[in-house]
Amino acid sequence: MSLVVQKFGGSSVGSVEKIKNVARRVLEYANEGHRMVVVLSAMAGQTDGLIDLAKEMAEDPDPRELDVLMATGEQVSVALLCMAIQSMDREARSLLGFQVPIMTDRLYGKARIQDIDTQRIMDELAKGRVVAVAGFQGLDESGNITTLGRGGSDTTAVALAAALGADLCEIFTDVEGVFTTDPSICPKARKMEAISYDEMLEMASLGAKVLDIRSVEFAKKFNVPIHVRSTFTKEKGTMVVAETKDMEKVMVSGVAYNKNEARVTITKVPDRPGIAAQIFEPIFQAGIVVDMIVQNTSEDGITDLTFTVPKPDFYKTMKLVGPVAQDIGAEKVLGDEDIAKVSIIGVGMRNHAGVAQRMFQALAGDNINIVMISTSEIKVSCVIEEKYTELAVRVLHKAFGLEEEGGGKT
Ligand code: ASP
Ligand code: MG
Repeated sequence: MSLVVQKFGGSSVGSVEKIKNVARRVLEYANEGHRMVVVLSAMAGQTDGLIDLAKEMAEDPDPRELDVLMATGEQVSVALLCMAIQSMDREARSLLGFQVPIMTDRLYGKARIQDIDTQRIMDELAKGRVVAVAGFQGLDESGNITTLGRGGSDTTAVALAAALGADLCEIFTDVEGVFTTDPSICPKARKMEAISYDEMLEMASLGAKVLDIRSVEFAKKFNVPIHVRSTFTKEKGTMVVAETKDMEKVMVSGVAYNKNEARVTITKVPDRPGIAAQIFEPIFQAGIVVDMIVQNTSEDGITDLTFTVPKPDFYKTMKLVGPVAQDIGAEKVLGDEDIAKVSIIGVGMRNHAGVAQRMFQALAGDNINIVMISTSEIKVSCVIEEKYTELAVRVLHKAFGLEEEGGGKT
């Protein structure tokens, strides 16, 4: 008899009817004899609503009380699911994070899971009950309720699967799986059968918002295979798993894009030791995450420095960089918000030559200018003008043969 962890996101439990549908899906497995642990998000829109409520009460709500409030969304959905399952003549028990307990550190709003005591869940399962665990929440060592950060229920599910030694962890969502690129801009995008953890991490961090990135990190660390699939169909989804030899045969597995970055350029920067450290210090102090950084080799001791930051941090960054640029005697600071990053991703890049070149050629073929380039072992990214994002994604998707079944090969 296998143990299965299933997680249903907010859109899957967004109404009474939808919760009943989840109950039926869970019971299909339970009736086959599987032991079922179900992790739920709050009903669609609930968490946002709770945050709005808090903001009406206080401009900057106390983080502890905010977590107490936010944890209630998941309390509603697990209770309702258990009622639905019970009305279908099966025993079910809901457990909140603190009842399991799921122990976390004390960082309200972005707590990390440290330990899960599986005894209580195991006891409930042994009684033949379906166990519904509230996602996104835990308990710190002083007994305070914590939450894991937006989208954190995915991590609850994967962490539970690891702790329980589950045979399978299924994440049910409103899309059918992980696609070779965003189907809303490229109709020829295909659902992937499988993707490696590392590729998924790159896809997720680039904006393919199927799985919360921390859950993938967790899955990789504990080697938990994840099946991402749709709540609304019976179709198989995408397996997110450890890398296999087969995956390397494919040159590029997917094309991702990110419109949420802005570019900052400082011109005529003196090329001396300590200059980069000086420029980035205030940005780092402000908690702004810098993504790409490009610095040229200098001519006559002068160089340019360009980097990207998240768009919401753009103005703050410009303000911080201005005075430093003056201090170090640089010429001026230029900024551009209308950029996008397109990336090709694939573990196969490690043993295929010319992947980047093929990308540059494809972009050139459609007259798309490349502003910045960066590469890693399994990714090549180009910054381009934002208005060409959709075109670039389609062009790259085609250039790497991703339109065809089993595509992406050389
Ligand atoms: N309800 C939380 C959120 O909306 C957690 C989750 O859904 O995963 O972010
Ligand atoms: Mg989610």
